[in-house]
Amino acid sequence: MNYQSLDSWQIDHQCPQCSAPVTLNEADRLLLCPYCRTKLYLVTDDHFQYCIPTKDSTRRDIIHIPYWRLKGLSFSVLAGEVANRFFDTNLLAIDMRGLPSSLGLRPQALKLTFASPGVEGRFLEPGIDARAVMQRIGADATCYHQAFIGEIISLIHCPMYLENNMLYDALLKRPVCPIKSEDMDGLLAKSHSQNWQIRFISTQCPRCGWDLLGEKDTLVLTCTNCESAWTCRGNAFESVEFSVITDTEPAPHYLPFWRMKPRIEGIPLRSYADLIRLGNLPKVITSAFEETPLYFWSPAFKVNPALFLRWSRQMTVFQSVEKKNSILPRTSLYPVTLSSDEAQENIMITIANLITEKRRLFPALSGIRIDLDEILLEYHPFAIARNELIHTKLRLSIDKNALVFGTQL
Ligand SMILES: [Zn+2]
Ligand SMILES: [Zn+2]
Repeated sequence: MNYQSLDSWQIDHQCPQCSAPVTLNEADRLLLCPYCRTKLYLVTDDHFQYCIPTKDSTRRDIIHIPYWRLKGLSFSVLAGEVANRFFDTNLLAIDMRGLPSSLGLRPQALKLTFASPGVEGRFLEPGIDARAVMQRIGADATCYHQAFIGEIISLIHCPMYLENNMLYDALLKRPVCPIKSEDMDGLLAKSHSQNWQIRFISTQCPRCGWDLLGEKDTLVLTCTNCESAWTCRGNAFESVEFSVITDTEPAPHYLPFWRMKPRIEGIPLRSYADLIRLGNLPKVITSAFEETPLYFWSPAFKVNPALFLRWSRQMTVFQSVEKKNSILPRTSLYPVTLSSDEAQENIMITIANLITEKRRLFPALSGIRIDLDEILLEYHPFAIARNELIHTKLRLSIDKNALVFGTQL
């Protein structure tokens, strides 16, 4: 697959302040109005919902057919390995025979709008759960554990209309499938009105009122006035504990990682010594290691799944105890595009990836319970060399193109 060619969807919207047209990318959380300079953060209750606009404004009888939009990283622990894949698909969200099971690439070619009560037509409620659809994507009978990480689940409403007991695609004006109008009425009657209003919240620092900073797709905004970081929960920003790994001089780039201290039951994994044994790492176990608490790291950004696995493993094996402070770097901060909840799911995958005795221990994975004692956002320093970013302390490198790809995930 050519990752670089993947486009994210574009959404047409209006600035809530001055009504100027603004185009957003699917992953954008910040709306920046180029006209009035308003900066707002986008939130929704569950899924973002989009409509495919119809050019034909005379039609009043549009029926919107729901499709799940699913995109993310999938990891499956199989008999001898941790398999990974990137998925990017859309699938019919109702159980109705004759309808196309997928919209294909069509939404990529069109600009979408946010679904809102102002959109003309009637809407069918999804009848199939998005999680159930996703399980099918990664389904494998011999799978010991499965995780979807960094997934985007959204709903896209495809406009159709009914004429003489035939459903037509409202964009292409082509027949899709026969359906009796009373059957459709039955389905529509069962659909409740949906809660799909997107909301915008102010990007002022809740602590000091300063303007919060961040890339358009970031889940964590920062305040360089009071040195704080914020993520949105519900309708409000909540403080994120963070630290910055320091070097002799400031690095040109900082990449975010989640550092987690879990409580693990079902497998002896409490100390660094336990990790050395589990992964058969080339280290001599000292009595100090038996007492050293164990941390897990996960990238706080999206990259291709193989790199994601590698970075989680490498950083966890390093157990780096570098000097740190809580002063935000004034150089480039790579956006946090993976939430702390998603990182938590990654602990199990990292454990599976580290296990050397796969045959003996993989069946035991289902008995493992993981709770978090603490989670912290860590910004790590990176220097630039040719096409790579290099961790200035650990000397690990990441291809710049991998990050470009990550912004499209
Ligand atoms: Zn504006
Ligand atoms: Zn502040």
